Amino acid sequence: MIKFVPEPHLLESPRGRDWPRLPRPAVRDRREGPANSAEVVIVGAGPAGLAVASALWHHGVRDVVIIDRDGRPCGRFFDRIDRLGQRVLRSPYEHHPGVEGYRDCELLDFARLHWARLSATERREVRMAQAGHRSVVPVDVFEAYCDHLATSHHVVENTWPGSVREVLPTDDAVTVRANRFTVTARHAVLCLGEERRPAPEAWWGGGRPPAGVSYWDEPVAPGGQSQVVVGAGLTAAHLIAGALEAGRQVHWVVREAGEHYQCADVNSSFFRPEGRARFDGVDRAGRLDLMRRFRRASIMFEFRPLLQQAEADGRLVVHRGEAVKEVDAGVVCRLESGRTIKADTAVLALGTTPSIGSGLLPSAVVGERDGWPDLDERTLRYTRAPRVSVVGAAAGLVFGPAARNIDGHRVATARVAASIAHGLRHGLVPAVAGAR
Ligand SMILES: Cc1cc2nc3c(=O)[nH]c(=O)nc-3n(C[C@H](O)[C@H](O)[C@H](O)COP(=O)(O)OP(=O)(O)OC[C@H]3O[C@@H](n4cnc5c(N)ncnc54)[C@H](O)[C@@H]3O)c2cc1C
Repeated sequence: MIKFVPEPHLLESPRGRDWPRLPRPAVRDRREGPANSAEVVIVGAGPAGLAVASALWHHGVRDVVIIDRDGRPCGRFFDRIDRLGQRVLRSPYEHHPGVEGYRDCELLDFARLHWARLSATERREVRMAQAGHRSVVPVDVFEAYCDHLATSHHVVENTWPGSVREVLPTDDAVTVRANRFTVTARHAVLCLGEERRPAPEAWWGGGRPPAGVSYWDEPVAPGGQSQVVVGAGLTAAHLIAGALEAGRQVHWVVREAGEHYQCADVNSSFFRPEGRARFDGVDRAGRLDLMRRFRRASIMFEFRPLLQQAEADGRLVVHRGEAVKEVDAGVVCRLESGRTIKADTAVLALGTTPSIGSGLLPSAVVGERDGWPDLDERTLRYTRAPRVSVVGAAAGLVFGPAARNIDGHRVATARVAASIAHGLRHGLVPAVAGAR
């Protein structure tokens, strides 16, 4: 049997290279709002919103308004990645927001086109991808590719900064109210992504964390010689790597009996039709069970040598099978076992929860059960509001664990865009099947 050797240098990749870019389109003054009507409004311009807008463009749907808090396609995605110092994606070359079923420049084509700018390691990974093996994608390449997609599919000029407060569907239209403007459209697609999971109230009584404690997507207080990291996923691994590099002693609290290493977030079969069929073939309880079992926190193999070495040197103390009970300013972290950890700072990486439209749509429309919305399986439209559909993590109970990744967005986009384009062409809103 061939032994898999994790290679930590794969985690390194230059950031901020100068990629050749398509000419930027002329954009209207962003202080004005968009036109107050459109065929489609997309809420959220992350990788999911970008995929939907690009697919609609291929379907000939050009009257699209995209609204995003950040106002920059994929802005939140890259801000989060850069905050953690993450240099490579976890998903391989074949997972990208390109448009299924249309001839387009895919992520792998894009990397090959810019061969001269790639390092020797990055070129080797491209060859691995071409040979059908697992490959590691530089964040830098992915960002330049997203910029290429956003420019070539007219996403840049159609994206408006705004915070959507309300989505009100009627039989004929959907009104999307943002903080600065309102747009009424024939269809809306919610691509809201995920929000960080807050700490349980019992840890410090709820609200903002105590002094010295922060969440993974916030700045860590500078200085200090020791840091607690809570969480078992790739985000925790990046935080630990960053703290070790800054010369801090790290205490890592992992609730499970041990850390779990895996290439992708979920078993790779879920990215393929046979994995999705496995998910399709079970009832709701079976799906919830699959999500619980397969969407568990894990870390890319490439981190293992670094973390093991740091533990052996005593720079990293791993508190396995330990759960946090309370956190106080200071920082004092009390564990369920009765142990106490004292450190200068603590960072919490407790995962994320899918944004399913709650707070934007009337709750009866969302029909939330177990944290998932009530969607039509075929079209990803809300069962009770067929002019509104979702792409992204919110489609998890339809597509399975991969819905929360870029590959899942691509698959969901193919269905949603085709269904909306068909509806616009024929003046139809397809009847949706019953709730699951
Ligand atoms: C650090 C990190 C690394 C990751 N790496 C990978 C990876 O390598 N491969 C992979 O497949 N997945 C990865 N993921 C998962 C990743 O989050 C998703 O694949 C991707 O970001 C999801 O895209 P999205 O468009 O659904 O969400 P987002 O990228 O979060 O985009 C959603 C956008 O909607 C906006 N929005 C939300 N609500 C509103 C509102 N009410 N009004 C206006 N705008 C709103 C948000 O501000 C945001 O800009 C990673 C996640 C994190 C946190």
